[in-house]
Amino acid sequence: MKDKVVLITGASGGIGRAIALKFAKRGAKLALNDISFAEESLKEFTNQLQRDGVEAQYFLADISNFEDVERMMSAIGDRFGRIDVLVNNAGIVKDRTMAKMTKDEWQKVIDVNLTGAFNVTKTALSLLVPNQGKIVNISSVVGQSGNFGQVNYSAAKAGLLGFTKTLSKELGKLGVTVNAVCPGFIETKLTEDIPDEFKTIVKRLTSLGRFGKPEELANLVVFLGSDEASFITGAIINIDGGLSI
Ligand code: NAP
Repeated sequence: MKDKVVLITGASGGIGRAIALKFAKRGAKLALNDISFAEESLKEFTNQLQRDGVEAQYFLADISNFEDVERMMSAIGDRFGRIDVLVNNAGIVKDRTMAKMTKDEWQKVIDVNLTGAFNVTKTALSLLVPNQGKIVNISSVVGQSGNFGQVNYSAAKAGLLGFTKTLSKELGKLGVTVNAVCPGFIETKLTEDIPDEFKTIVKRLTSLGRFGKPEELANLVVFLGSDEASFITGAIINIDGGLSI
């Protein structure tokens, strides 16, 4: 990955950080995005990477806001001049059963998890396509199976799978690959608040009997972003310890 530029959205979160660290280990330069609420933690993370000799810069933008993303992409273009790998990682949950879910909770989750990926990918194309770049979308197993209390999240993550397949067909002849990974339950802030009782049930249903670690998911994302994965596109890869089988 030496001298490749990798853009990761939601980079101050549990999975985003793990992905950033793995790409950095391979010699990549990092453009790290998160929303402004996360500035302190993203800044600290970026400073740490820089102290370790990694070429990294952070860029604040709310990915659900197209104009904000356009501004960010222009700054990334000025700073790095190219993108080789785009990881659409930022995501949120606002869980509630359909009966109780508000229109706002529906809309916000669609806006960040699905429209956010559209906004970032669309504005990144001119920096990514000339380098035959690679796009990795972080979906979820619930985009395939559904999950109680997550009509908004599972619809957004399922949408991301259609987005991935279609874009892989549109960009394939240009040498750009587009893939999606579907994690099961990974130990991060997003899954921290799940009630213990539900955690126990999930672990029982998971062949490996545990949640995954962000680093385990990062291994797959870095592989898909590398030349070793040059003939993989339009793929949907589950990484869930056997939960979905
Ligand atoms: P996380 O720790 O909450 O990280 C998500 C990051 O995205 C946070 O830093 C968050 O910032 C940021 N973000 C939220 N809204 C944003 C916006 N509008 N613009 C830019 N950044 C925004 O969650 P994670 O577990 O690492 O999740 C990463 C991805 O994996 C998500 O797409 C998630 O759906 C997916 N995933 C996770 C699991 C799991 O078990 N953890 C399973 C399947 C899929 P704030 O903290 O300020 O909100």
